[in-house]
Amino acid sequence: MIRVEGVSKTFAGGFQALKNVDLGIRRGEIFALLGPNGAGKTTLISVICGLVNASAGRVLVDGHDNVHDYRAARQMIGLVPQELTNEAFTTVWDTVSFSRGLFGKPRDPAHIEKVLRALTLWEKRRNRQLELSGGMKRRVLIAKALAHEPQVLFLDEPTAGVDVELRREMWEVVRELRHQGVTIILTTHYIEEAEEMADRIGVIRRGEIVLVEEKEALMRKLGSKELTLHLHEPL
Ligand code: ADP
Repeated sequence: MIRVEGVSKTFAGGFQALKNVDLGIRRGEIFALLGPNGAGKTTLISVICGLVNASAGRVLVDGHDNVHDYRAARQMIGLVPQELTNEAFTTVWDTVSFSRGLFGKPRDPAHIEKVLRALTLWEKRRNRQLELSGGMKRRVLIAKALAHEPQVLFLDEPTAGVDVELRREMWEVVRELRHQGVTIILTTHYIEEAEEMADRIGVIRRGEIVLVEEKEALMRKLGSKELTLHLHEPL
């Protein structure tokens, strides 16, 4: 579904956030990108989604180059950013149905209703976002990303800074989306989250993918010197 080939990113100022990243994401899987803060997770998904240009390499989304064929590539992608919304005074319905997403397509009200019901936001559709709990606000962000029916959904640190109960709720939502056939890529710095959610896990450190494994294989290594080194060595 996604092919990342030799992607590097050097920011103005010379800092190299991604170093020759090669990565393939399979159709229908949940892939967790696991790494400490500052490792390059957000930069990598920003490059894949076409929000940040790579300095080298290329990204194919279902065969479409995300620069040269960006319309086709971006139409397939939904992105749930890390920050909670600032649309405090907008109702849930308006936020989701008027959002243009990464790439604007006309919104079908019947589809918006389906998305809101799936995320148990239907009863709250007339509420302004400032009236919602943190968990609901995050579900509104997911609903926005799903409004244009993406085949691939990126979730950047979906549970950073949320309590255990809410984390479990998010995991349920993500599993249900996968069940519906959406390919999911999430970033996290929680090993437990990668273990709970992912089919495969990629470990990123200092801008390099140092390991990509099926979850079970990686968990067998958990506690082994190799993995501990990758995750806990200072940046
Ligand atoms: P993560 O998501 O894993 O926490 P990021 O991708 O946000 O990591 O950041 C990786 C590194 O790139 C960090 O050192 C960060 O400071 C740096 N970085 C991110 N964005 C920029 C930018 N726009 N300009 C310069 N450096 C940046």
